[in-house]
Amino acid sequence: MHNIRYRRIVVKIGSSSLTHASGNLDFKKIDRLAMVLSDLKNQGHEIILVSSGAVAAGRAKLQMQKSTDTMKEKQAAASVGQCELMFLYDKFFSQYGQIVAQLLLTKTVLTNDSLRENAVNTLSALLEYGVIPIVNENDSVAVDEIAYGDNDTLSAVTASIIHADLLILLSDIDGLYDDDPCKNPNANFIEEVTHLDASLMQLAKDTSSNVGTGGMVTKLQAAKIAMESNMDMIIANGKHPDIVYELLQGTTRCTRFLGKEQSKWKS
Ligand code: GLU
Repeated sequence: MHNIRYRRIVVKIGSSSLTHASGNLDFKKIDRLAMVLSDLKNQGHEIILVSSGAVAAGRAKLQMQKSTDTMKEKQAAASVGQCELMFLYDKFFSQYGQIVAQLLLTKTVLTNDSLRENAVNTLSALLEYGVIPIVNENDSVAVDEIAYGDNDTLSAVTASIIHADLLILLSDIDGLYDDDPCKNPNANFIEEVTHLDASLMQLAKDTSSNVGTGGMVTKLQAAKIAMESNMDMIIANGKHPDIVYELLQGTTRCTRFLGKEQSKWKS
């Protein structure tokens, strides 16, 4: 079987990778992502997709301005956008012969033992039935202190509770640099991280992306959760969803974080 070193893979894609600069959804990208993930499923991998984009899609559909919307408008946008997103995912994944399911999680669910167990049971049953679960935060009910707010953390916690082998964060950047590459042209790219120390966390600066909510800080927090759960994690550019094939082969630029005690990449 093809590259089964990583059997259970969680792929997280950010809003900026799913939308055009106009804020509208990028259908070509969503279709291609569905094709690649369906193909990996056919190769024998178990796939869980954590997709952002609900708020962005809802805002575009309702013609809301990000600068003026209030919390309740953002929640309404998430509610409309989540529907739109799942309609598209269902359509595209069905085209490639896959069944998808929606799971809207919250911090409350993932930090409460019995609720978390239910989420794990549901995800396990879906995977047993060969379904591709699509996860997002339940943005219409989870706000402020009860929300993760960014899908980087949500995807790492989800990947950890279902004992995934690999978490891939597809973003609008190639990975981690030792300085802000937009401001410092001499910033060095970091290809591999074996342990996260305070100085590395210090390096993380918020990216300039204004579509999603995650920056490098939340990505490194996700890496901490992943590495401590003994899982490998990758940050890579989601501009072309085909990159996932190359990430599994190790033939493209990315930052790879290796699981604390045992990395499947090295084994
Ligand atoms: N859950 C939010 C959404 O679907 C996005 C959170 C994030 O950007 O990480 O719109």
